[in-house]
Amino acid sequence: MACTLAFVVLTAAAQQSTHEKTPPPAKVTEPAPTPAAAAGPSLTPPESRSDKSDAAAAPPPVTADGAAVTGDPARTRLAIDLTGPVEFQVFRLTAPARVVIDLSHVEFTMPPAVGRAGAGLVRSFRFGAFATGKSRVVIETTGPVKVEATRLLREGARGRHRLEVELVPSATVELTEGEVAAAIEGVARLKHGEDGNAHAAPPPAARKIPTIVIDPGHGGVDTGAEGVAGSEKDIVLAVARELNRELLATGRYRVVMTRNSDVFVPLERRLKLSQQNQAQLFISLHTDSLEKRELAGAIRGATIYTLSQGASDEQARRLADKENAADLLAGAQLKSEGAGDDVKTILYDLLARETDGLALNFRQLMMKHMRNRIRLSRDPQRAANFVVLRQAETPAVLIELGFISHAEEEKQMRSTEWQRQVATAITAAIEDYFSKRKAIFR
Ligand code: ZN
Repeated sequence: MACTLAFVVLTAAAQQSTHEKTPPPAKVTEPAPTPAAAAGPSLTPPESRSDKSDAAAAPPPVTADGAAVTGDPARTRLAIDLTGPVEFQVFRLTAPARVVIDLSHVEFTMPPAVGRAGAGLVRSFRFGAFATGKSRVVIETTGPVKVEATRLLREGARGRHRLEVELVPSATVELTEGEVAAAIEGVARLKHGEDGNAHAAPPPAARKIPTIVIDPGHGGVDTGAEGVAGSEKDIVLAVARELNRELLATGRYRVVMTRNSDVFVPLERRLKLSQQNQAQLFISLHTDSLEKRELAGAIRGATIYTLSQGASDEQARRLADKENAADLLAGAQLKSEGAGDDVKTILYDLLARETDGLALNFRQLMMKHMRNRIRLSRDPQRAANFVVLRQAETPAVLIELGFISHAEEEKQMRSTEWQRQVATAITAAIEDYFSKRKAIFR
């Protein structure tokens, strides 16, 4: 992602600047051929398509030069006119409802305004380069839809093609496994796209198996919630170590622990570790606590949180505030989020939303495997704005394993047997999550 993002952002900046003398850094100019297709005028006219060489630097051979939306709210069709055949994949994203068409590299020569006026079920659509060698069309729909048909039709003798996607209304918003897989692939492509940041990539051997980051909350000066016999930081570290052991025992994962001792780790460092290791799953472990002593004996059970701008309820919001304050409480400053320019925000947003879908999928599997092993809270699937979950590229969940303010639950959470049950449940969910992915792609 870094390369495409950096280039687009820098191009936007260059347009505003009157200084043309300073040459852009080499890191940015190098991968220019691909993102330039989206950011500026076409580099090569489509006619100049020469040989069949598929070198990465070759000019994009296919151009999308027109698109039209036809139909009504009962059935709507988007047709894209192409100068040649493409590979494509269509899937939906939820919240808000969208349909994504991923294409092998295509140069868009139609004006962006083409996508502003929709019809029927299509509110609007936008298109552009997505990652190295990949283009994308995102259709905003008026509500949940089903992709009724996709067709790539040959038109005439000159090799022109027409890609049609037909949409009908749908009552369900549940994504199919294929769609989840497509979202995974989309994120993976961005993550492994050329970004020139060799230092950020794990060694080649490590790439073959998924990297999972286990994030035991708090540590060191930051004790987390206090129980009668101990602190949150010790329970979550014990569970994290057990989980680490179980995952490594499968031989199928690379595991990174954000801490493996009683040390303080700033939230930002936890995020960085996830990013640098190109984690495919990030699991943060915590225990909750109730301030109100009178309720402490009644409230218990585990809850799994995913990221959301707004909290699913007041309690979730307060909890996120509490966990997010960890750095402040420990005397470490939380770096303020940059103002972020529009282009960057849009790309981040799109990517993050796909990742969110995967996190929800993983949370469902967690529910399935935890249900029989440990007690869940009354409302075990919630969302809130946790700093540690703000990851555009990695599906991330935060598990509040139980309430340390509940005497019996605290005692239980400190037992090795319970910790093993939790680790086994999480391992089973992880196995489930990745085996589905393999089944679709291999
Ligand atoms: Zn915590």
